[in-house]
Parts: sequence; C-alpha cells; structure tokens
Amino acid sequence: MPISGSCHCGAVHWTYTGDPGTATACNCTICRRYGTLWMYGWVSEEIETAGKTTIYTWGDGDIEFHHCPNCGCIAYWRGCKPHKDGRTRIAVNARLANDPAAVADLPIRHFDGFETWEDQPDDGKHVRDMWF
Ligand SMILES: [Zn+2]
Repeated sequence: MPISGSCHCGAVHWTYTGDPGTATACNCTICRRYGTLWMYGWVSEEIETAGKTTIYTWGDGDIEFHHCPNCGCIAYWRGCKPHKDGRTRIAVNARLANDPAAVADLPIRHFDGFETWEDQPDDGKHVRDMWF
C-alpha cells in the first residue's frame, strides 16, 4: 500500500508508492528552517501529488517548494524542469505522513547541503527519533 501524506488542513496530498529507503535530513539554508524529512522519487512514478499549492523558489530556480496556501505546511519540492530523459525529480515531506507508523522505521540519511554537499555518516537514527 502506498504511503500517504497530507497537510494539516487536508487540502494538499501526496502518495509514495514503494520503499523510499531513507528519509533525508538536510542542513541547507531552507531545509533546516522547514525541518523537513525528504523521501525522494520521480513525478508520476513513486510520487503523486494533489491539491492547489503555493510555490516558493529562489536563486537559480532549479527546484520549487510547494506549500499549502491554507495551513502553510511544506508538502514537497519538485524540479522546475525535467531531466534529459523527461523525468522530473521530486521529494515529499515525510513529516506529513498520515500514519506516522508508515515512515517511523525509515533510517535517517544526513545530507550536508550547507557546506560539503555530501552524505554524512549514519548515526543510527530513524524517523521515529526525529518526531520530537
Ligand atoms: Zn493545508
């Protein structure tokens, strides 16, 4: 069964089909502010989204962040342009999972998006350790 997520008010939804493998915690200037845990995939493959969103993008505009215009939750980011093969990268925010148990056991991948742009060593944490 796909993992499903929605914003707090229920206007924006995502589904993730398959095993995301990990959830990524990133320390870049935007992810550390949002506090997001990303599950990566491709538009219309692993990941489907629904609902009207507000979009935030900046800098060179490679990716756009989609928020619920009503309750403000950050639901997903998506590449502004498809890759050469026509597929578009996307990641959904695991914190919006409707059933926390569906993502609780995913290992956390720590990604240094602030300085080195590299994965950091595993520290044994899972999504369940990040809820609070
Ligand atoms: Zn909402």
